[in-house]
Amino acid sequence: MSAPRPGVDDFGARLSFDRGAPGRRAVDVPSWNGDETPLPDSHLLRDSVRLPELSQSELVRYYTELSARNYGIDSGTYPLGSCTMKYNPKVNDLVALMPGFSRAHPQAPPEEVQGTLRTMLELRRGLGELTGLPHVSLAPAAGAHGELAGVLMVTHALEDRGDIDTRRRILVPDSAHGTNPATAAMAGYKVTQIPTAANGSMDRATIERELDETVAAVMVTAPNTLGLWEQGIEEVAELIHDAGAYLYGDGANFNAIMGRVRYGDLGFDVVHLNLHKSFSTPHGGGGPGAGPVCCSEELARYLPTPVVEEDDDGLVRLAAPERSIGLMQQFHGNAGVLIRAYAYMRALGLGGLRAVSGQAVLNANYMRALLHGHFDLPYDRPVLHEVVFSGSRQRREHGVPTYDIAKRLIDHGFHPPTVYFPLIVEEALMIEPTESEPPEAIEALAEAMIAVAEEAERDPDTLHHAPWTAPIGRLDEATAARRPVLRWQDGS
Ligand SMILES: *Cc1c(COP(=O)(O)O)cnc(C)c1O
Repeated sequence: MSAPRPGVDDFGARLSFDRGAPGRRAVDVPSWNGDETPLPDSHLLRDSVRLPELSQSELVRYYTELSARNYGIDSGTYPLGSCTMKYNPKVNDLVALMPGFSRAHPQAPPEEVQGTLRTMLELRRGLGELTGLPHVSLAPAAGAHGELAGVLMVTHALEDRGDIDTRRRILVPDSAHGTNPATAAMAGYKVTQIPTAANGSMDRATIERELDETVAAVMVTAPNTLGLWEQGIEEVAELIHDAGAYLYGDGANFNAIMGRVRYGDLGFDVVHLNLHKSFSTPHGGGGPGAGPVCCSEELARYLPTPVVEEDDDGLVRLAAPERSIGLMQQFHGNAGVLIRAYAYMRALGLGGLRAVSGQAVLNANYMRALLHGHFDLPYDRPVLHEVVFSGSRQRREHGVPTYDIAKRLIDHGFHPPTVYFPLIVEEALMIEPTESEPPEAIEALAEAMIAVAEEAERDPDTLHHAPWTAPIGRLDEATAARRPVLRWQDGS
């Protein structure tokens, strides 16, 4: 090991406040020869602000070192299932940063921002085409936000039908992302869970039994969180419609099917997409995101405000649908995410998007083949965008839980996959390589996972205390959550 570098390897012990020396400055301001204006009354001024005192090079090195401690998609494979942490072309950032877009004021008169508005119009049309649900609002700012919009649209439709007092339940499969039942509950519905059958799809008998005049909607994730296609979804859609309910689609996993399968053609009434997963916006850290809702003709009048429309004279403007559920947030959503999505969609074209979904599926199946036999695979079928293994065998035979496997992967140089989700898979290890990883990267991750599985057999103790090579080892997660230290404290 190389010698510790002062100010670098003691990272964490010494923050910027604890470095440098009194009087040191990152920037020298030239002295002032003009008239001096007296400072305000001293009681208006704080005299106790301690700021770091660093030279510019110390400051730059501090932040450069800090940035290098982060693991991102630009540093390596990031196989978090469900999250779609894929590489997003930098050129789309440049497009979103063009001053015409980035400086447009949200309250500018439509005549002055026709370029931005037309971009949104074309994005809206493109997403309508891709989903087969032509009516779209770009307003929601995240997947969960899009879900809430969609379920509130269903509520408005039921009100107009006079059905709202009787239809108080929403059916949600037990493999769903937690946002689905949370959304249904937040919109005031009771959630009924649909168990997953042995083939990884919703249990048909339960759906048939539960569907009655008390059901408002069924929320289906397609493809689902096991990375599997929902078998017989078209028949299920018919059953749902025959029972007078709506079929809501969670389209967060659209990267597996885009350019190939359209929700509208299968009978979905309303779907949200996660542009910050599938359409070229980096995802994580709480945003910004975009979760557009796409719907059928019947639900179009309830879409959140605004929707982008073109007048007969070719002017693009923002409008409020007739029976809109209202605003989801200020203005028209996260414009930068929408511009990136548009640039990505146009650069790839339909053929390119189809190639993306094909590659994403191929990569997930390659991963599945490489790890087959090394970890349990409870739903052992060809997958779509992701594959969910289980660490049950390692836990049972060697006392090594999935948590330890995930932590040990950090020592092997990889970000761990998603763990313990979906909830229906014990000791779940959910891997989504995405379309952007080359075969060597997928092989390297598989080799690392196999090496960890072997270590679990030979040397479980090393895994219990991993990671060994990260700047911070195992956190006391309960204390970190209950008593977080979020700011520098003098003398601490
Ligand atoms: C990510 C995800 C969501 C939630 O999206 P957010 O943008 O994080 O709110 C919902 N459903 C599925 C299947 C997801 O993967």
